[in-house]
Amino acid sequence: MKIGREDFEALIKGEKDITPYIELDPGAGSYSVFGVKTASNPNYLIKAIYEMYEANLNKKLAVKAVRKLFRSVGMGSSGLYNLLKKFGMDLKPAEFLMLVFKLQHQQGWGAPFELVEQSEKRIILRTKHTFEAEILKEWKMPVCGVHMGWIEGIMMAVTGKNWYCLERKCVANGDDCCEFVVDQVDPSWKFKAQAVVKGDSAITEFIEHKPVEGTIKLIDDPVVIMPRFVFTSMMNSLKKTMGEMPAGGVNYRAYMDMGRENVEHYKKMGITQPNTLSDMAFTFYSQMGWFHLVKSEWNEAKKEKTITLEHTVESEAFGNTGKNVCYCTAGLLAGIIEGSFGIKVQGREIKCRSKGDEYCVFIITNKSE
Ligand SMILES: [Zn+2]
Ligand SMILES: [Zn+2]
Repeated sequence: MKIGREDFEALIKGEKDITPYIELDPGAGSYSVFGVKTASNPNYLIKAIYEMYEANLNKKLAVKAVRKLFRSVGMGSSGLYNLLKKFGMDLKPAEFLMLVFKLQHQQGWGAPFELVEQSEKRIILRTKHTFEAEILKEWKMPVCGVHMGWIEGIMMAVTGKNWYCLERKCVANGDDCCEFVVDQVDPSWKFKAQAVVKGDSAITEFIEHKPVEGTIKLIDDPVVIMPRFVFTSMMNSLKKTMGEMPAGGVNYRAYMDMGRENVEHYKKMGITQPNTLSDMAFTFYSQMGWFHLVKSEWNEAKKEKTITLEHTVESEAFGNTGKNVCYCTAGLLAGIIEGSFGIKVQGREIKCRSKGDEYCVFIITNKSE
């Protein structure tokens, strides 16, 4: 079927819908709508995608992961945009967005969209319900990651700029509609890192892994994946040359410097608030697999901070040894606190999984010069 400019114009004006443009050939296993080969979008497929992400993340982060996936789908609309340009149709980004959604929604992706507001840097869209809001109703929260991603991808494809979409209301959250606010933003390092600390994103959203090229970046910073036994191997080799206690001290010192330098890096990126700096470091190391933060307490009378961790990298690597093993982690924690608050501290591990305790517990105290 040949689709021309007049067909798009009739669809935009609402004089026609997609029905006459549906071509279904069950024998050949092909289905095309408006000249584009497509397939149905079964509920179970969408549900499976959400649940796949939910298996490793929480629900909120799973929605964000779906958003990232569908951003790529939205980017694919550049083909249609160029075709329309060739026809001499010069649609504004918001108009193009509405056209894409008209094509999609008439194929079963939910109720029609309404353009509530449009300006150079902000677009607001609303719909009675989306497809995914119906499927994931029992999540009882804003779930429309498919649409958020689509919107961001389409806007990026046609404007060449970055857009950030927020779902302000969602049918799955008990609201009367799904409403999307789309802002043109420059997603800085700071913006992304803060999203991780607030729990709006997980670091996985910002990992750019190119295994074939041998590179990994985490929010534009190069990182590497290390096997956990690095910790046992390094400790054992230090022990051989200098004995156990000095080896612990060297590790403590080295990781303390690393923690402090890490915080310095955050400062260079524009983070200044001490609590945010330390929260950021804890969140990043935790999400990178170093430990899980169980709790962090502050004793005002003693001026002491107690940090309780689950599965530290060393206690997992060493297993049960009957003694404290987390020198690197103790140093790292102390370095993070020093860098964040601009003070001198000492970190001590008082309980350790490797000694048979339930958690590894660290006490951070002020160091008198
Ligand atoms: Zn929604
Ligand atoms: Zn430990």
